Amino acid sequence: MRRIEAEVVIVGGGPAGSVLGLRLAELGHDVCLIEKQDFPRDHVGESLPPSIEPLLEFVGVKDAVDAAAFPRTRGAWIRWDRPLQFRESPTAGYQVTRSRFDNILLNAARARGVRVLQPARFEPDRVDAKLVADATGRRCITGGAKRAMGSRSLASYAYWEGKPWEDSCSRVAALDNGWIWAAALGDGLSIVATFTDPTSHGAYQALVREAKLIPPGGRCGPVRVCDATSWQSETMAGPGFIRVGEAAFTVDPLSSQGVQTAIASALQAAVVVHTMLLRPENTDLAVAFYQARQQAAAARHAFIAANLYAEVAAVRPTEFWRKRADAVQWSEPRSPARISGDFVEPL
Ligand SMILES: Cc1cc2nc3c(=O)[nH]c(=O)nc-3n(C[C@H](O)[C@H](O)[C@H](O)COP(=O)(O)OP(=O)(O)OC[C@H]3O[C@@H](n4cnc5c(N)ncnc54)[C@H](O)[C@@H]3O)c2cc1C
Repeated sequence: MRRIEAEVVIVGGGPAGSVLGLRLAELGHDVCLIEKQDFPRDHVGESLPPSIEPLLEFVGVKDAVDAAAFPRTRGAWIRWDRPLQFRESPTAGYQVTRSRFDNILLNAARARGVRVLQPARFEPDRVDAKLVADATGRRCITGGAKRAMGSRSLASYAYWEGKPWEDSCSRVAALDNGWIWAAALGDGLSIVATFTDPTSHGAYQALVREAKLIPPGGRCGPVRVCDATSWQSETMAGPGFIRVGEAAFTVDPLSSQGVQTAIASALQAAVVVHTMLLRPENTDLAVAFYQARQQAAAARHAFIAANLYAEVAAVRPTEFWRKRADAVQWSEPRSPARISGDFVEPL
């Protein structure tokens, strides 16, 4: 591969990498993004809550997302600590196909002037950049120490063909040893995922049957397995590097806020990087600000998830629920700085 010269190199073209690139390009920086896969590519994580709308608007992609005509949802069917009920929301969320959604964001970054290399490999020795951003999601290719924010969890998921239900709202149900999430993505395609302890590996079909959430008759595609544990990087940023999106911290999939959180972290990271590049004397402050804000967000998400697990633990006191219900302490470090305009400044 030839040498890559850019002010900022971003590795990873998921929601975090694309939004970071897009914002930095808008702020006048020369950005190159390296994505290892050709797009469109599959990615799990399809339910986007209504609260993502202002972020899509701010980033300037809401019209393109709406034009893609993803199914809209005004609530979800939940069987958690009570019998199945519909929890309505006043505004609509999206059930996106991530291959198309992520492509919209990456194309928006391209349109703002981000050079996208794809498919391409990140080779540190061949990169000349003032700053490298790791936006490689759970892979977090820059490594570094990580801290789990809850019990180890395993996701097993598959795409089902058929027309399993009438509306496209998500279904979530608690089981004795895990929980299940299902969503109709349009065109007769649905995703059904189970979340368990890693020791329950291989129990996917049994859990889907036990949940009785989807009518029989659908055709199940290959079952894929991935880690779904919440963790955070001990170091979110430093001189010359930053971790963004799930490379900084992952949220419990229960919240359906992974994509939204990745975008929010990218917007914050853009201001931090902009400050590091144009006001290098404020680098330590910007890093401390980012570290504090990301840690606070990770702790808040873990705390909310633990409370939701506690609701089920009260009616299903199995080990799965008990250990997740009390896994987290709430602590929100104080940020030493604030955002003023496009810069991080002292309080
Ligand atoms: C089972 C499950 C269900 C989920 N459900 C939801 C949901 O319903 N709603 C929701 O909002 N979130 C959900 N999430 C979380 C959501 O998918 C993530 O939070 C989100 O994708 C994070 O965005 P990101 O940009 O940080 O990382 P990613 O979207 O993972 O993007 C990382 C990118 O980096 C690229 N990459 C990786 N390594 C390299 C490399 N070496 N060089 C170059 N590129 C590289 C990858 O190809 C990828 O394109 C779920 C997660 C799981 C595991």
